[in-house]
Amino acid sequence: MIQLQSIVKQFKSKNGVFNAVDHVDIQVKKGEIHGVIGYSGAGKSTLIRCVNLLERPTSGKVIINGVDLTNASIEQLQQSRQKIGMIFQHFNLLKTATVYDNIAIPLKLLGYSRQDVEAKVTKYANIVGLSDKLASYPNQLSGGQKQRVAIARALSQEPEILLSDEATSALDPETTDSILDLLLEINEQLGITILLITHEMNVIQKICDYVYVLEKGKLVEHNTSIDLFTKPQHPTTQKFLNTISQRNLSDSLIEQLNLTGAVIRLTFVGESTGKPLIADVANHFNIQPNILAANIIELKNGIVGNIVVHINGTPSEINAITKYLTNNGVQIDMLGGTTNE
Ligand code: ADP
Repeated sequence: MIQLQSIVKQFKSKNGVFNAVDHVDIQVKKGEIHGVIGYSGAGKSTLIRCVNLLERPTSGKVIINGVDLTNASIEQLQQSRQKIGMIFQHFNLLKTATVYDNIAIPLKLLGYSRQDVEAKVTKYANIVGLSDKLASYPNQLSGGQKQRVAIARALSQEPEILLSDEATSALDPETTDSILDLLLEINEQLGITILLITHEMNVIQKICDYVYVLEKGKLVEHNTSIDLFTKPQHPTTQKFLNTISQRNLSDSLIEQLNLTGAVIRLTFVGESTGKPLIADVANHFNIQPNILAANIIELKNGIVGNIVVHINGTPSEINAITKYLTNNGVQIDMLGGTTNE
């Protein structure tokens, strides 16, 4: 369990002191995967580095499995840090060491016997799918393989928590997917709690149970993935969502289409994703809805669908249609258009 309570981290700049992290509260229960998303400079790296006190918060508490690290003795801090693994965007591997040694060296430094080191390296290289690369050097590996070495190295110390600092940001989309699959596997099979930071919504979409949106050091929104993808409140969250699904049409596009009636976004979640509701509406109200955009997003814990539709009808017809859809579990947002009454 990770508890960050009212974390503040101040830095000095030429304009004075500023809060890179500004009163942030986060709670990740054992076995969950939480993600912090934000633009560059939002404070994500600083925040995640506060979790293992690589960065000491200016104020606030970091509590890991009930131990307040911000007030812990050096021994307690060292013990707790061993339960926290970390992976990074640029992998942080030793270039002059083989894959075997990259995983083994930290274990040797921790005082494990040769047999124990060998057993752990073999086990975790196997879990990340690199058993046949133990004698290779980092420059003989692809980006995805390098990240797998870093993950094996983190896991070999058998942490309860894994911190991921933009671990997929330097990878192509396909490799990103394979690393995210690996993180999901680790979470499910080893029960490891994961806190990650990212600027990519597809990372959140694929593996997170819960999401925090960070802007200028502050949490501007946080919610379960399903609720955040269904009803994003803050403009920054909406912008991030638009990077993976077309939920809106721009005002100028709606104007160009010169539509009468209404442009409506229907958001489907849970049961309503499986119903042929557009066809129902067309039959029931004898109208021809025109689909302007549509997409479906697969989340870790469910599916969210969006359809932007133009319906030509009077305000009372449109009211009746939106009521019908709402009663069938569809979330309705009016995006524009004009009425012809
Ligand atoms: P992100 O990871 O979201 O890109 P960072 O946490 O790296 O954001 O940075 C947040 C802000 O804090 C930025 O304005 C950055 O320049 C500043 N910052 C980060 N580390 C330091 C530091 N050691 N000293 C001064 N300013 C810093």
